[in-house]
Amino acid sequence: MKKISILGSTGSIGRQTLDVVASLADQVQVVGLAAGGNIELAAAQAAKFQPRVVSVATEAGARELAERLSASGNHPLPEIVFGTDGIETVATLPETDIVVSAAVGVAGLPATFKAVQAGKLVALANKEVMVAAGELVMAESQRRGVAVLPVDSEHNAIHQCLRAGERGEVKRLILTASGGPFRKTPLKDMAGVTREQALAHPKWKMGQRITIDSATMMNKGFEVIEARWLFGIPRERIEVVIHPQSTIHSMVEYVDGSILAQLGPTDMRMPIQYALTYPLRVTSNGLALEWANLRKLEFEKVSRRKFPCLRLAHEALAQGGAAPCMLNAADEEAVAAFLAGRIGFLCVAEVIESTLEKASSAPMESIEEVLAADKEARRLARLEIARLEIDRRRN
Ligand code: NDP
Repeated sequence: MKKISILGSTGSIGRQTLDVVASLADQVQVVGLAAGGNIELAAAQAAKFQPRVVSVATEAGARELAERLSASGNHPLPEIVFGTDGIETVATLPETDIVVSAAVGVAGLPATFKAVQAGKLVALANKEVMVAAGELVMAESQRRGVAVLPVDSEHNAIHQCLRAGERGEVKRLILTASGGPFRKTPLKDMAGVTREQALAHPKWKMGQRITIDSATMMNKGFEVIEARWLFGIPRERIEVVIHPQSTIHSMVEYVDGSILAQLGPTDMRMPIQYALTYPLRVTSNGLALEWANLRKLEFEKVSRRKFPCLRLAHEALAQGGAAPCMLNAADEEAVAAFLAGRIGFLCVAEVIESTLEKASSAPMESIEEVLAADKEARRLARLEIARLEIDRRRN
C-alpha cells in the first residue's frame, strides 16, 4: 500500500487525485491533505478519506474544520494544522511515500522542497515550483536520490516516451499546445478579449490561473522551463508545436529520427494515476481514447508575435538567475489583475516584460533567495499594474 499526501487537495488536480485514489483503494492510501480556504470541501474529503493529518491555510479555517468534522460525527478527528507550517507538516509526514504537489503558485514551493529534502517521491503538478526554482529542486532531488515525477500531462507524456531510449539518444523534446481559446483570433482583436472568453479553454477544465496562462500561452512557456529542469535538456532542444486536438500530449524525437508520442484522452486522471503507480501500469477507471471520434491530428507553428508570453519565458530561461522566478511572480500578479478586470488581456505580457527588465542574472542559491526575488517581482508588477490601470482610466 502506497501512502500519499496531497498539497492542494481541494483544487482541480487535488480533486482528480482523490478520484484516482478512490479507484485504487487497495493500492493507495491518503495520510495527509493540505487545502487552502475551501473548508467545506476539505471537511468532506477528510471525512471520506480519513487522513491522519489535515492542513488548511489559516487558524480560523482550522477551527472551522474541527467544528465541521465534530458536528458530522467524525471521531477521532485528524490532526488539524494550518499555515506554512501546516502544509510543510503534511509534505513531510514520516509515513508518506508520495507527495502530490498541486497547490497553485509559488505558495507550494517551500513545502514541495521540504518534501524532497525529506526523501519523498514528489508527483509534481505545481509547475510554478519548477519555473521559480527548478535548478535548486532538481539538484536537491539528485542529492537525496529521490524522483520528481511529472503530473503535468505534457511532461508526463515525455517521461513515458523517454522510457524508450537512452538520454544521450534524445534529439529534442516536442511539447504540444492546444493553442488555447485565441488560436484563431487575429492579433488586432486580442486587446479586447474578456475574462469569460479567456476562461473558456477549448480542451481542458482547470483552475483559473492556468486557464488564463493557457490563453496567453505563458503556460507553454512555463512548460518549456519545467521540461528544461525535469529532464535536463537544454532549452534549444525543447520545441513547442500547436496541436489543436490535444490528443498527442507531447513527443520525444531520438537521434535516429524516430519520434515517440504519447496519446490519450484529455483527462488529468491518466497522468495522475501514472505518477501514483509508477513504475507499474495498472488498469485505469475506464479512461480510453475514442478512436472513432479521432478524425485528424493537426499541427501548426506558434506565432510569437501573437503570444509574446512564450517569448518572454524563453528569454527568462536564457537569462537564468532570478528571471524565471520573476517571470512567474509577475505573471501571477498580472493574471490576478486581469481576472479582477483591472488590466486588459495584452497588458499581462506588458507587466511581465517590464518586471523582467529588473531581473538579476546571478544564480539563486537557496529557496529563501527565490522567495525574496518572488516578493520583489510582485512589488514591481503591482506598480506596473497600477500605472496601466491609471492609463486605462484616462483613455
Ligand atoms: P486550483 O486553483 O484548482 O487549486 C489550487 C489548490 O491550491 C487548491 O486546493 C487551493 O486550496 C490550494 N491552495 C491555494 N493556496 C494555498 C495555500 N496558501 N496553502 C495551501 N493550499 C493552497 O489549481 P489547479 O488544481 O488547476 O492547479 C494546481 C497546480 O497544478 C498549478 O500549479 C497548475 O499549474 C498545475 N496544473 C494543473 C493542471 C490542471 O489540469 N488543473 C494541469 C497541469 C498542471 P483552496 O481551494 O482550498 O483555497
